[in-house]
Amino acid sequence: MTSIASNLNSIKADIRLAESNAGRESNSVQLLAVSKKKPSAYIIEAYQAGQRHFGESYLQEALTKQKELSHYQITWHFIGPIQSNKTKQIAENFSWVHSVDRLKIAQRLSNQRPESLPPLNICLQVNISQEESKAGIKLTELADMIQQIEQLPRIKLRGVMAIPEPAQDYAQQRLPYRQLHQAIEDLNKPELDTFSFGMTADLKAAITEGASIVRIGSALFGART
Ligand SMILES: *Cc1c(COP(=O)(O)O)cnc(C)c1O
Repeated sequence: MTSIASNLNSIKADIRLAESNAGRESNSVQLLAVSKKKPSAYIIEAYQAGQRHFGESYLQEALTKQKELSHYQITWHFIGPIQSNKTKQIAENFSWVHSVDRLKIAQRLSNQRPESLPPLNICLQVNISQEESKAGIKLTELADMIQQIEQLPRIKLRGVMAIPEPAQDYAQQRLPYRQLHQAIEDLNKPELDTFSFGMTADLKAAITEGASIVRIGSALFGART
């Protein structure tokens, strides 16, 4: 077994264990393989081991890989910062966008989503740790933003994504996810079923607090340089 395949198995085992420890249903958490800065050959290895959902952060790099891998049945997720002049290519080439952080971007993605494709699945990126430098909308703006985005015809709002401030302490890792999960529960919108929470360093905390998609890069493909 290749190391990517064995990494994949051990991450899946970690996810299943965290689901079980949190009293959650088995397979309620999906793995998104974050392949940014890694070659297409690595994606193929993960694909051959059964992985189908891949996340990329840099548009040009992603488009190159999509061309190389066009014969594979991959579902592509865009998870990186979005400049407004890049929305057209994102709308045309991805199934999911996790990093929508302002209304203008959502409007452009909706306008530019080709009619030949199903509506684009999106998550709102929430700046849950209230870091000045971080992308994302504020928790206080969330309800209003959701209401406006729900009007857009060619995107389908699925939920939220967060990248909290890194923390070593498990309780500290859990807190921002709990707050955001609760904020969505309070809106009473069952169609918002996606919580894109958790990376390599805080996978367990994220699953304990309701993650439905975890975005894992380095544990699967190795450290990025
Ligand atoms: C790079 C990246 C990840 C993966 O991070 P790892 O720590 O390597 O698992 C997840 N989410 C986003 C938004 C990223 O940019």
